[in-house]
Amino acid sequence: MAALPLGVEARFLDPSPDATARALGELIVGELGDERALERVTAGVDVATYEWEGVPAAGARFVEARVPVRPAPVALEVAQDRLVEKQTFARLGIPVAPFAAIDGPDDVTRAVEQVGLPARLKTRRGGYDGKGQQLVRTVDDARDAWQKLGGVPLIAEADVAFDRELSVLAARGVDGTTACYPLVENEHAHGILRVSRAPAPQVEHARQAEAESIATRLLDDLDYVGVLAVELFECGGSLLANEVAPRVHNSGHWTIEGAVTSQFEQHLRAVLGWPLGDASARGVAAMVNCVGALPDPADVLAVPGAHLHDYEKKPRRGRKVGHVTVVADDDDTLTERVARVRALQHDDG
Ligand code: AMP
Repeated sequence: MAALPLGVEARFLDPSPDATARALGELIVGELGDERALERVTAGVDVATYEWEGVPAAGARFVEARVPVRPAPVALEVAQDRLVEKQTFARLGIPVAPFAAIDGPDDVTRAVEQVGLPARLKTRRGGYDGKGQQLVRTVDDARDAWQKLGGVPLIAEADVAFDRELSVLAARGVDGTTACYPLVENEHAHGILRVSRAPAPQVEHARQAEAESIATRLLDDLDYVGVLAVELFECGGSLLANEVAPRVHNSGHWTIEGAVTSQFEQHLRAVLGWPLGDASARGVAAMVNCVGALPDPADVLAVPGAHLHDYEKKPRRGRKVGHVTVVADDDDTLTERVARVRALQHDDG
């Protein structure tokens, strides 16, 4: 949708014939790693991009041999493996919770002793929205978790008693210039993002600078072009990096109405080699995810400053089917409007 007013034509690849993108341009239906489908979708294009970190890296490399792929596929390789991701943070001097690799059942005891208990055991690949992870309090718990998580390679991480969860969204252009959005405060329930608030309340100047430094180190190291998000824990006044998403991010959806340049337009500007836009917030904004089902549009739109986004997805327990962005000029008004929107949303799990 961000491409339309810029006069940019897009062609899409999605395994589902019902993909919402079909309304916006030619949709090629095929698997994301299928070489014939990748050839069809990229034939004659100026640039290829992706908006899901699960895209097979080998597929992205196949495309890269034909047309520029932005961000470069190395970003997928880092984001798809939690161990490589944490090692990348550590290599760049970005603070992380203590972590250790678990390659087989014999590593479990040593790994949890190394990071300390309680610990989080996470599958190295394929986890999202809190899936593929277990909180363990004892070594016995950890051994059980190895089985429950499917006997696959894991990472053990210290369980962080964070004060709050934040994220930073940032973009890097073809010429290496960067732009960072203000820090976002994120509230999760059952591993699923429920509410993002931006700019995050009570952020010291030094904390914003720290977040921008984390994002910029990653962007530069990966020679990244496009928008990325880094999920952070704020802990006793400092930041720890948890995850990187090589794409536009759910915690950045507020930028459509709440920032001078939306993350989606910013991503297009970056990958097309155009100048980056102003990443400042306009007033204050919050995004409320609609999880499971959408509230009645008429009820949402009765709230001043509320904007509804329906993804046209079938209602399903735990599925994000849309979001509501609420904008306001001041914090108190925003809080009151968000409470009204949340009262309409029957979160289901
Ligand atoms: P993730 O899939 O790594 O984004 O984890 C999903 C959610 O689990 C995070 O948003 C946190 O709320 C929580 N979480 C993940 N890792 C840790 C950790 N090391 N310590 C405490 N909470 C965590």
